[in-house]
Amino acid sequence: MVIQTMWKDRLSFSDIDGAVKRIEELMSMGCAVLRFAVPDLAAAEVLGCLSRQVSMPLVADIHFDYKIALRCMDFPIAKIRINPGNIGGKEKVKAVLDKAVEKGVPIRIGVNAGSLPQDIRERVGQGRDRAEALVEAAERELAVFDEFGFTNVVVSMKASNLADTIKANRLFTKATDTEPLSPKATLPPPHSPLPVPLHIGVTEAGPLITGVARSGAALVPLLAQGIGDTIRVSLSDSMENEVIAAREILGAAAEMSEVGGGPAAGAGAARLKRDGVTVISCPRCGRHGFDTHGFCERWMTRLYALDKNITVAIMGCEVNGPGEARHADIGITGAGDKVLIFRRGEIVRTVTSTEADTAFEEELIQATRGKEQLARRDLI
Ligand code: SF4
Repeated sequence: MVIQTMWKDRLSFSDIDGAVKRIEELMSMGCAVLRFAVPDLAAAEVLGCLSRQVSMPLVADIHFDYKIALRCMDFPIAKIRINPGNIGGKEKVKAVLDKAVEKGVPIRIGVNAGSLPQDIRERVGQGRDRAEALVEAAERELAVFDEFGFTNVVVSMKASNLADTIKANRLFTKATDTEPLSPKATLPPPHSPLPVPLHIGVTEAGPLITGVARSGAALVPLLAQGIGDTIRVSLSDSMENEVIAAREILGAAAEMSEVGGGPAAGAGAARLKRDGVTVISCPRCGRHGFDTHGFCERWMTRLYALDKNITVAIMGCEVNGPGEARHADIGITGAGDKVLIFRRGEIVRTVTSTEADTAFEEELIQATRGKEQLARRDLI
């Protein structure tokens, strides 16, 4: 199961080194695919430059202009997102597909509820709901690829409405599965008997809290059902938070699939599980002697870059600190005007609040056994 996010700034040559560093940090957090909007040929040159300097698979997101897609494939680009129906004539589609075959580049078809073809949009509400319309639009795009025998394809169908998102992905999975459609299905015949990889997400999900809640509500049931091959949590927030949110949603889906059984239980749940940190933190109340909110803000990105299976507890006071978080590999908690650092319930350091971050970092290095590992990731 692949986590992806999308670069949120314009592509520019102004800070390539900074971009490379940030891409590497995203990779260390668990991001495995990074998509870029490529609105023109100048942006394609920047993306090409980046793609030669990072090991992260980079995806070019292109609308309308097939020449941008052709130029991007001159570089080691991992995937193109372009809809054949938007490119223009068949000869332009053929040019893109010929080069994609030559370079071994997959193409993602991305269908959004807000930009359905007009004829499909007009039939919504007239015997067809929006989820069925999304599937029809995706099938139409796939049919164009089918004409040329191109099968190296990924599909996404996104809506901001949760029910539409869930239903569309379930319908599409059924339509491209080896199982026949139910006799009651009103969809067009499946374009292919083979399952098509799905990229899943909720579009325009909202700012951090809203977006995580809504994305989780739609994606957990799909993932727990075994649907989805790549995931993005689209937030009006940072790329790093999108990656953290995706990791947590995958973890929640793994737990749910184990509870509920079904196709994703067992080996399916294992595909959703990720190595890395588990963070538990208290909400903070009037008893707190340590600012858990500020500490979380400072440390979340760094903690999620650890490649150790480790549980970290961030607690506000000693009332529920080491005791309640006894199972944590390492924890930090307030205690009056002091800060305690504990490991497996045992207090190992007592420091002032100004010393807390440094002391925690030192103990974290001990807990993860090896300074080299942390230093290698430029976390110190
Ligand atoms: Fe309040 Fe302490 Fe519990 Fe945090 S750990 S919520 S500060 S009682």
